[in-house]
Amino acid sequence: MAAVDQFYTVERIHADTYRIDENGAANCYLVIGSEKALLIDTCWGAGDLNECVRRLTDKPVTVAVTHRHPDHTGGARQFGDFYAHEQDNTRFNRLLEHPLLNRLAILRSGGKAQKSKKIKALPLKHGDVFDLGGRRIEVRSVPGHTAGSVMFIDHEAKLLFTGDNVNPHLWMHRPGAVTLEEWMDSAKLILGYMEQGYTAHTGHGDGTQSKENVEIICRYVQEIIDKQGCGQLSKNDSPYPEKGGEIEIQFNIHRITRK
Ligand SMILES: [Zn+2]
Repeated sequence: MAAVDQFYTVERIHADTYRIDENGAANCYLVIGSEKALLIDTCWGAGDLNECVRRLTDKPVTVAVTHRHPDHTGGARQFGDFYAHEQDNTRFNRLLEHPLLNRLAILRSGGKAQKSKKIKALPLKHGDVFDLGGRRIEVRSVPGHTAGSVMFIDHEAKLLFTGDNVNPHLWMHRPGAVTLEEWMDSAKLILGYMEQGYTAHTGHGDGTQSKENVEIICRYVQEIIDKQGCGQLSKNDSPYPEKGGEIEIQFNIHRITRK
């Protein structure tokens, strides 16, 4: 880990691939090919993320996000338009991305409001591929934490960028999240890759997530679904299995089984 400035530290996680940590609050990832670079997520944008990225590459940078939450899209204004799945293009998400709210969040976290551009979200869909030159990054839909959550896959390097979909502190209680049953399908897809030796890189914490941890999260989520099935689930069961644990699942009791 190397500190770039007071806001950003950079960790090389693979050849030409970096995790950028913003104040310990969120991660974004820079994936560099021979012609272009892809910035996956942008954190809040509490510091000069553009300058941080420029220190790592002089290639043109495309920005895409795993989902449209402001701690993943906030920094995009320093770059330009960004790619995001259409399912996350909701009024609620657009409100959370409002420049004023972003500015307030940045100032509250001790950050500095940065020069920003007026930008828009460009559509991203399942199966899209970012060709960076000698390196291809595939997009797969993984509805869960949000309906429009995607993961980015580098098959050659066996890297998965999973956003907030399999975090140890899994947030499924916010507006825009899907049911736990639908989340489970996505989690199993991610787990399937991890069983083949892919590593998952997440949007928060130190960015690492083990196969064993994802298996435990799946087991807990299945327990919640089963409790609901036999009428034993209460909204006080969230977070599950308990507050303050290493793994904590926040859920909405009305979004458990597929509608
Ligand atoms: Zn999120």
